[in-house]
Amino acid sequence: MVGEFKWDYAPAPESKDHVRLEKQYDLFIGGKFVKPLSKKYFATYNPATGEKLAEVAQANEKDVDLAVKAAKAAYDKVWKKMPGKERAKYIYRIARMIQERARELAVIESMDGGKPIRESRDVDVPLAANHFFYYAGWADKLEYAFPNRTPQSLGVAGQIIPWNFPLLMAAWKIAPALAAGNTVVLKPAETTPLTALKLAEIIRDSGLPDGVVNIITGYGDTGAAIVNHPQVNKVAFTGSTQVGKIIQKAIAGTDKKITLELGGKAANIIFEDAALDQAVEGVVNGIFFNQGHVCCAGSRLFVQESVADTVIRKLKQRMETLIVGDPLDKNTDIGAINSKEQLDKINEYIQIGINEGAEMHQSSCSIPAKGYFCKPTLFLHTSQSHRIVQEEIFGPVLAVQTFRTIEEVIEKANNIPYGLSAGVWTDKGSKIFNMTTKMRAGVVWANTYNKFDPASPFGGYKESGFGREGGLHGLAAYLKF
Ligand code: ADP
Repeated sequence: MVGEFKWDYAPAPESKDHVRLEKQYDLFIGGKFVKPLSKKYFATYNPATGEKLAEVAQANEKDVDLAVKAAKAAYDKVWKKMPGKERAKYIYRIARMIQERARELAVIESMDGGKPIRESRDVDVPLAANHFFYYAGWADKLEYAFPNRTPQSLGVAGQIIPWNFPLLMAAWKIAPALAAGNTVVLKPAETTPLTALKLAEIIRDSGLPDGVVNIITGYGDTGAAIVNHPQVNKVAFTGSTQVGKIIQKAIAGTDKKITLELGGKAANIIFEDAALDQAVEGVVNGIFFNQGHVCCAGSRLFVQESVADTVIRKLKQRMETLIVGDPLDKNTDIGAINSKEQLDKINEYIQIGINEGAEMHQSSCSIPAKGYFCKPTLFLHTSQSHRIVQEEIFGPVLAVQTFRTIEEVIEKANNIPYGLSAGVWTDKGSKIFNMTTKMRAGVVWANTYNKFDPASPFGGYKESGFGREGGLHGLAAYLKF
């Protein structure tokens, strides 16, 4: 044991031996990997080491047009006519193949995105498979899911996803779209394209009819070309509120359906009657694990005044034990920040918090000299007007406030532009129900945090977007009635 709270763990790196990465990836269009008409490629790097992992194609408008046309042809000729029970077989097959290749997918996710292997192995990949299993189950039961409503597919879904849960977000988008009878053009984020391209290989190997799913890579302009393509009938976007607003403007006046899952600034609320150790663990899980790279990260903490000293002491102790470092090490709690740009943004916010007069506390841990890393950071004595309380940081930075009454904490927790999620920690069931009805947040976790299930809808209020993913709500978003 080192010091009062720390142990030294021997390194336990996950092997990369079974990972097969090409040097260069083309666009997955019409069931094949094809060279981009743009003739351009860009590199994707490991944010923990700076190592170049592969080059991926940079799709331009003409490439997007090919992908959308492939999706449209597959929709008209094959997919919309196929009985639900046949569609389900393909979706199940994809789910099983994700399970079979789970280790490889998890390692690639951690290499490309920087998240700890524990997270990608235990959360991202199994949940991605579960989403395909769950929606496969609905494909032949749409009329039972929505009785008396004659559900019909929409056509081509254009899907744009961010870098924080690359494979899982692809699954959230693709599985319900296919179950509902739509075809897909999906674009992963530019910093994390590799697991989506591995998924393209799985989809090819699953025998899914050509063109039903097309996966293309590129930057924001590629995403914009998907959004603006006239043959796209539905846009599903997860990413920043800023880009969400651009997309909403872009499709105004068209009959495209849209779901937006945008930023968040979730409150974790600890009442004096809560199981405090459990609550502290939930707060740590909510903001520090996965580097705070979660839209629903619990980035604000409200602690009832009577237990504030105890909770903050326990929180600081727990922060000391967190291991920041190699994402592929099974002991790592906090991996690499996804990109230099993101690390700069987080550091800028830490400086803003200091300048605003909040009291900063960081773990005394060391961080690797190479790569993009950030220590878990706590800000005490913050107030509602502070930017670190109002704005999404998307890093391992927690802003703490105290409160006295339930009315006060509801008012403060709701008083931000976002409303994606929240956490409530209390021993009293009645208090939980009272809070869940008054919190303006799409998801309210009670005595737990960051728990996901394919059957449960997820989505936001206010600037966190609209529409729901997951569950029957997520299926309805890909249907017209
Ligand atoms: P983040 O801040 O999470 O990186 P972004 O909103 O910048 O979120 O990016 C999310 C996804 O949206 C990425 O795949 C990105 O390439 C894409 N994107 C960026 N700009 C646009 C745009 N104008 N139209 C469509 N997609 C875009």
